[in-house]
Amino acid sequence: MKISIREIGSNGLEANDQFSQASIGFTGQDDLKLILPVDVKAKVERAGNTVLANIHVSSKYSATCGRCLEMVEEYWRKDFLFDFPVERHTEFIELDEDIRQEILLNLPTKVLCQKDCKGLCPGCGVNLNKEECGCKNI
Ligand SMILES: [Zn+2]
Ligand SMILES: [Zn+2]
Repeated sequence: MKISIREIGSNGLEANDQFSQASIGFTGQDDLKLILPVDVKAKVERAGNTVLANIHVSSKYSATCGRCLEMVEEYWRKDFLFDFPVERHTEFIELDEDIRQEILLNLPTKVLCQKDCKGLCPGCGVNLNKEECGCKNI
C-alpha cells in the first residue's frame, strides 16, 4: 500500500487493500492458519511534518484449541497507528512492511476454544467439555 503524500487532502485519504497469507509471509505456526485474506483499511492524515496512518486489519483464522484440540474458527481484527516523518522531498510512503510486521506480531499464539476450556482428561483422553469421564475418581 503506497501512499502519495500529495494526494492526502485536508480530510485525509482512505485506502483499502488485501494481503494474502503468503504475502504476509505467515507460514502457519501452532496450527494457526488464516482462512481469509487480511483486509486492510488505512486512513491517512497529514499533520505538519508527520503522516499519521490509522490501520484497521481484519481476517479469520482457524486453529486447534491448545487444551482440547478441537478446531476453532475465529474472526480477528486489530488497529494500528503508525506515524511517518515527512521531509520536503518525500513523495510516497510505503505501508506494507509495517503492516505486515504488525500482523505477524499480533496474531494470537495460543488459541482456546473457550476461556475456561476443560481440556482433555489426562487419564482417558475424553474431551471434558463434552463428556464426564469415570476415571477422574480413581
Ligand atoms: Zn478447547
Ligand atoms: Zn478420564
